[in-house]
Amino acid sequence: MSAISVVGTGYVGLVTGACFADLGNRVTCIDVDEAKIALLREGGIPIYEPGLEELVERNVRTGRLSFTTRYEEGIDETEFVFVAVNTPPGPAGEADMTYARAAAHSIAEHLRSSAIVVNKSTMPIGTGDWVAGVLARQGSVQAPVVSNPEFLREGSAIADFQRPDRVVLGADDRPAAERVAQLYAPLKAPILITDLRTAEMIKYASNAFLATKISFINEIASICERMGADVKEVARGMGLDPRIGPAFLDAGVGYGGSCFPKDVQALAHMAALSGCHPQLLRAVMDINRDARLSVILKLRSALGGLEERTIGILGLAFKPNTDDMREAASVEIIHLLQQEGAHIRAYDPAAMPKAEALLTRVRFCEDAYETARGSDALVLVTEWNEFKRLDLRRIHSLMASPTFVDGRNVYEPSEMAALGFEYYGIGRAAGGGDLINGERSAQEINTPA
Ligand code: NAD
Repeated sequence: MSAISVVGTGYVGLVTGACFADLGNRVTCIDVDEAKIALLREGGIPIYEPGLEELVERNVRTGRLSFTTRYEEGIDETEFVFVAVNTPPGPAGEADMTYARAAAHSIAEHLRSSAIVVNKSTMPIGTGDWVAGVLARQGSVQAPVVSNPEFLREGSAIADFQRPDRVVLGADDRPAAERVAQLYAPLKAPILITDLRTAEMIKYASNAFLATKISFINEIASICERMGADVKEVARGMGLDPRIGPAFLDAGVGYGGSCFPKDVQALAHMAALSGCHPQLLRAVMDINRDARLSVILKLRSALGGLEERTIGILGLAFKPNTDDMREAASVEIIHLLQQEGAHIRAYDPAAMPKAEALLTRVRFCEDAYETARGSDALVLVTEWNEFKRLDLRRIHSLMASPTFVDGRNVYEPSEMAALGFEYYGIGRAAGGGDLINGERSAQEINTPA
């Protein structure tokens, strides 16, 4: 059993703290957000993450997990200090290091016994060296730094922590990395130990690659729309090749969330500032923006304009099984629709409380059916399971006009057409790509006169 402190009690910090406590360690989670810590101390959970409430409750009950706002209490006699504060996007696309800097200074100020500082936040390459410098200059005890980037996915965060594909540890002090590796030993996952900067780069490169796969298939989807091919089948055909694999080849309204957008942007920013020309990363970001805009184009074309039209939005969170609204496609899509004069109805199974703080002039609904009532079009933005099993006849009967833009390709174009919907998928031949800008259908283009 080890004494662990976690600085920053958000999605990553809370999951990390609860999971390490569940492995038998004594964990103190620290956060500067007093309301969040008060809620956790009262038994509340500030985020929606399947299984987390039960895990936190169990470990608080056994006395292995506790919460504080006070560094002096939280890192007293600790052996490991995990840093899991937010590193949001800054105005020029860089990672905003305000919170990470403040955390490093607070750790240096309050650490009284030798401990290993573990950077779990996604931090620009070189941050580990910088944190080591702060600790050496301002701290009163020895504190080596290890980079331990986090790969968990919201929605399956606990399982991802407990059964990781790999644990990456970067350190210039190998024994320190090996001590952190011991914490993960019960998980029996492959552990890769590298130098500090390489570990930091592995995180950025991994996210950039996954975002690239998404933008790649979205580019193929828009070509499919013009050429009369079905991107879902194309992705299936590609994904069967083990060199390619099926994951992250789902065409749709693009990636969002607290990681991919900011991490691709931050990597491009770092690259440009070091004299590289990150044109692939820039294309990935452009294509992602276009994927969101394509929804507006489809709706405009289907409804002949958006002024005074009512659009129902199914799903607001950036992906299913989370209430995280950071960089959610829904936010940009709703703003663009409102700018063109549309009225918005919306429903999400978990994210509405967070969405209400971000969106104005939106009628939040009880469920998908209330959202459909009186809508001129529905847009499926987040593929929650409950949207995969809709009573489509009922949805059809409730809508003012049956236009359905399926931003996640959940439904089959032919089945939707048979039910009487004017259905638009993403990159699907029968999805009506040929309607965009009123161009001729792909079939017409490809058929010799
Ligand atoms: P979050 O915003 O949910 O949580 C961060 C927490 O840190 C907040 O509660 C905030 O109050 C707290 N904080 C800020 N400054 C602090 C300070 N000086 N001292 C103590 N607490 C402080 O963020 P998150 O989603 O958990 O992400 C954390 C990091 O992990 C980011 O770098 C992110 O890129 C990375 N990451 C996130 C995910 C994810 O799915 N959310 C996955 C992998 C990696």
